[in-house]
Amino acid sequence: MNDSTENRSGRNYNTEELLREDLAHHMRPFTDYKELAEEGGGRVITHADGIYFWDSEGKRYLDGMAGLWCVNAGYGRKELAEVASAQMLELPFYNTFFKTTHPPAAELSKLLSDLTPANFNHAFFANSGSEANDTILRMVRQFWQLEGKPEKRVIISRHNAYHGSTTAALSLGGMDPMHKQGGIIPDIEHVAQPYWYGEGGDMDEDAFGLQAAKAIEDKILELGADRVGAFIGEPIQGAGGVIIPPKTYWPEVQRICKKYDVLLICDEVICGFGRTGNWFGFESMGIESADFITLAKGLSSGYLPISAVMVGDRVAKTFFDKGGEFYHGFTYSGHPAACAVAIRNIEIIRREGLVEKVRDETGPYLAKALATLNDHPLVGETRSMGLIGAIELVKNKATREQFTPPGKVGIKCRNHCTENGLVMRAVKDIMVMSPPLIITKDQIDDMIALARKSIDQTAKDIGMM
Ligand SMILES: *Cc1c(COP(=O)(O)O)cnc(C)c1O
Repeated sequence: MNDSTENRSGRNYNTEELLREDLAHHMRPFTDYKELAEEGGGRVITHADGIYFWDSEGKRYLDGMAGLWCVNAGYGRKELAEVASAQMLELPFYNTFFKTTHPPAAELSKLLSDLTPANFNHAFFANSGSEANDTILRMVRQFWQLEGKPEKRVIISRHNAYHGSTTAALSLGGMDPMHKQGGIIPDIEHVAQPYWYGEGGDMDEDAFGLQAAKAIEDKILELGADRVGAFIGEPIQGAGGVIIPPKTYWPEVQRICKKYDVLLICDEVICGFGRTGNWFGFESMGIESADFITLAKGLSSGYLPISAVMVGDRVAKTFFDKGGEFYHGFTYSGHPAACAVAIRNIEIIRREGLVEKVRDETGPYLAKALATLNDHPLVGETRSMGLIGAIELVKNKATREQFTPPGKVGIKCRNHCTENGLVMRAVKDIMVMSPPLIITKDQIDDMIALARKSIDQTAKDIGMM
């Protein structure tokens, strides 16, 4: 390691000193602190442009994860920095409590109402996907109270779902390691996920989709429909390993929710804003109507923190008709600069036709490029929709046998990717990707070539090649 390195941003960084200071004072999220300290503190990321970022040693990475599933418009968007700057000079902050609002919040709520289906006409703003899902949990319970059915307070979710890291969001999520650390709130139930490759056995994919949906109906019947207020799901589970449900799943889930008068919550934090080749994941999954939509990440392409709950007309009408204060909100709900950035980000996505580009061009191209890996002995399956994709690394291709304990091979592969200048994430032994929506076909070729090289190296490590 050099003491200091000149890099593209024109600034000198002293990597060792930065890491020393960081280790001494910064507790990073989702980190094993002991392990991090033993390994020396990881990398320092200094600047980014397009689909690439650089570390403090001057090494370039192809960002196959769009930051953390969020930098959909890509890095280096000067106009996003400029609108934030202009807004901060005009009105850097004012709250939206106490019967006040400001132009960016008013404008963004209107814009999001136009962008989402006809029955969505109201936005409630927060700062993160987690806070948005917390907000939904409170709205669901308040809605049923206003409707005179306070006992309809249970929310059904799936195992291996990710809905965030605040107490309500982690309880809604189905991540066992998070649940085991405590803090779970009651009246949230988890059912099977629609993970056909890993859990479908010999079943036909469509039949498995129906069976996974039936798990929701079984749970409703077990609890009693008079106790179940809502079902929450990501159209495609992202952090759970890019679980793309069989096409039979979502229409059936929707039918079940209608039948038992259970509100449907679509967590679009990853799938929203073009990721799957439509503006929203529910369009790709055959979901015709929902009651809540969670938006974050791609809403601002990660340039500033902002999230929104889109509240369907049925719920909004009850809140407006019945009245009574909803005691909920955040200091920064509808932050003016974050709203201004989100508005311009949506303008960029429209102007550059990024959603159509993913749908017609780069999404299908990624699927073909991924399919070239299917001949690899370590690759059990590749799957994608739009620009969200996964490569399943398995012990036995023929029988779909997975590695036990899971995760060791995935981490090896991820480390090779990093060494090779590619960022992919390992979810157990599933390599997942979600590159910026501006990625070109040539860059997809580069990404898949680096992935193949890393998978080859991993296969050699474990004596498979
Ligand atoms: C990231 C994520 C969240 C949580 O968002 P934060 O901004 O990290 O709080 C919620 N739901 C899904 C599907 C996510 O991927």
